[in-house]
Amino acid sequence: MNYSRLREKLINELIKEGVLRTPKVINAFRMVPRELFVNEGFRELAYVDSPLPIGYGQTISAPSMVAIMTEELKPAKGDKILEVGAGSGYQAAILAELVKPEGHVWSIEVIPELAAYAERNLKRAGYSEYVTVVVGDGSAGLPENAPYDKIMVTAASPGIPEPLTKQLRCGGRLVIPVGRLHLQVLKVVTKDLKCQVSMRDSVPCVFVPLVGKYGFREPDLKLL
Ligand code: SAH
Repeated sequence: MNYSRLREKLINELIKEGVLRTPKVINAFRMVPRELFVNEGFRELAYVDSPLPIGYGQTISAPSMVAIMTEELKPAKGDKILEVGAGSGYQAAILAELVKPEGHVWSIEVIPELAAYAERNLKRAGYSEYVTVVVGDGSAGLPENAPYDKIMVTAASPGIPEPLTKQLRCGGRLVIPVGRLHLQVLKVVTKDLKCQVSMRDSVPCVFVPLVGKYGFREPDLKLL
């Protein structure tokens, strides 16, 4: 399987569709081998624009969704970033590529087995130095390393958890899918230098649910 050819083809499609826009983000997509972040049985599909199962009922997001969220977050060299929902570790690797070498990504994952999976994948791809995977409920953020320049939530949330806007630096940005269980809108929250919070809607999207303190409640999750 010639992964670099497939990768380049997908990148060109995403550029044509207008979801990949900035040279830095395009370069990050070139640098991160997505085939190392999908389960062995799905390797040939690594460069198809679709989410793929990673076990435990969770998925690695579609490349176009990773592109849209990354473009909206605008990660910059040196940024401290919090990701909620490590999953496969792919999105964390893309973020790491954009903030390294001075920046750092903390990625929190509630399913311990997936946290280990993300860590393994990140190590193989050469990003462990720039990403710290933490096991826990990230719906309340990760106060230890706050404030963050950027925060990205990669699971569907019923609202914008207050601890996340609190843990965002003034001048920072938060990207989070907010809505109902089967349909959300990607919200882009900005906190300006005077610490005023404002937000706007990006695109409609469908994510697996955020669980935990500020996530969906057990009775709702039973409907899945
Ligand atoms: N960003 C991932 C995809 C994430 S899928 C990637 O690039 O592959 C969403 C992930 O969020 C799942 O792994 C799920 O277990 C996790 N998750 C759900 N609720 C969470 C919470 N409260 N804290 C941390 N992780 C959570």
